[in-house]
Amino acid sequence: MTTGVAILGSTGSIGRCTLKVLERQSDRFEVIALTAFGSAGLLREQVERWHPRMAGLVCPAEGDTNSNGRMRWKTGPDCLIEAATHPDVDTVVNAVVGAAGLEATLCALEAGKRVALANKESLITAGELVTKTARRTNGEIIPVDSEHSAVLQCLAGYEHGDIARLILTASGGPFRDWKPERISGATVREALNHPTWNMGRKITVDSATLANKALEVIEAHFLFGLDYGQIDAVVHPQSIIHAFTEFVDGSILAQVGYPSMELPILYALTYPERVPDSGVTRFDPAAFGALTFEPIRRECFPTFNLGVAAGRCGGTAPTVFNAANEVAVHSFLKGGIRFGRIPEVIERTLEAHDVGEAGSLDEIKAADRWARSYAEGLCC
Ligand code: NAD
Ligand code: MG
Repeated sequence: MTTGVAILGSTGSIGRCTLKVLERQSDRFEVIALTAFGSAGLLREQVERWHPRMAGLVCPAEGDTNSNGRMRWKTGPDCLIEAATHPDVDTVVNAVVGAAGLEATLCALEAGKRVALANKESLITAGELVTKTARRTNGEIIPVDSEHSAVLQCLAGYEHGDIARLILTASGGPFRDWKPERISGATVREALNHPTWNMGRKITVDSATLANKALEVIEAHFLFGLDYGQIDAVVHPQSIIHAFTEFVDGSILAQVGYPSMELPILYALTYPERVPDSGVTRFDPAAFGALTFEPIRRECFPTFNLGVAAGRCGGTAPTVFNAANEVAVHSFLKGGIRFGRIPEVIERTLEAHDVGEAGSLDEIKAADRWARSYAEGLCC
């Protein structure tokens, strides 16, 4: 029996990598649904190669035909929900970028699917609701993010009470050793020049501000049910060790591998099993050489502190942090604001926000909408 897979965001970096992983696993998995935002040409190629039972294009451009032969694609944002809840789908790979992926995560969990979650923004913007939904429906959330996949792999066979602390690694991004004034004026091209990972534009800018590491601290809090005091982050420029998991007796396990998303994606699909024919390049320690670590220069990357503080605050604070960050990054990428204004927009939005409960989708959507509108006003 094969496992039915839906890939939300199949045209993006994680979506394309998932299809690459599935090329080698065609006896185990069947692609049932594919969705994209607006890349009709690439979606058409993917549909022709994979013959899914459903395809969805959120935002067709004028002139897009929205079909492959006799198969008509669904259009509009609801295509994500339709793909996520398709009766033949067992596992939903949520590789959408941003809080736009939240409702699909919730609906997939409600429908009892496994969610292989790359869309970390689902957990940042609505961590309590998403984890509560998963508990109620026995839905599974398996992280795709490499650091959280590393932790999950280290935890195999252990109980929650055995964990003392997690240390997530961060590459440090392209500005790891830059002076603060130079970081402030960094160009889009410089921010997109990531030293070790090849990813979509939004997460690449998040890695340059270290917002990504703050998002990942919050993600770890919700995924593994740990206090913020138990989750640290350290800069590791080579991106070979993805996370350390410290146990109550002081022993630490780490997960090691070249910076590629193929293994975390495969593990999220096959968890708790491992498959022999992964195709992943094997790590050679002697050939690679030195692995180094250093503290995060928090004074140079204020977005990291803002994000962790929002996580600690709880309620709608992480929702607002995420929304303001999405708006600021979008504006930076379009040439609207300087790189150095990204943390300022987030900070001012958080300061203006009255933190409330984030228990329901309505509360979360209201906070998200308010934060986007406030942050957009600051980006003018
Ligand atoms: P990307 O920009 O390359 O791809 C995003 C995908 O989502 C595309 O297929 C796009 O068509 C679709 N999309 C964009 N906006 C949408 C919307 N409003 N509604 C529906 N679909 C939409 O991004 P990515 O780098 O693949 O990242 C995807 C997610 O995975 C992000 O949450 C990111 O943080 C996370 N992630 C990525 C990596 C990586 O290596 N790229 C690693 C860890 C986690
Ligand atoms: Mg990561």
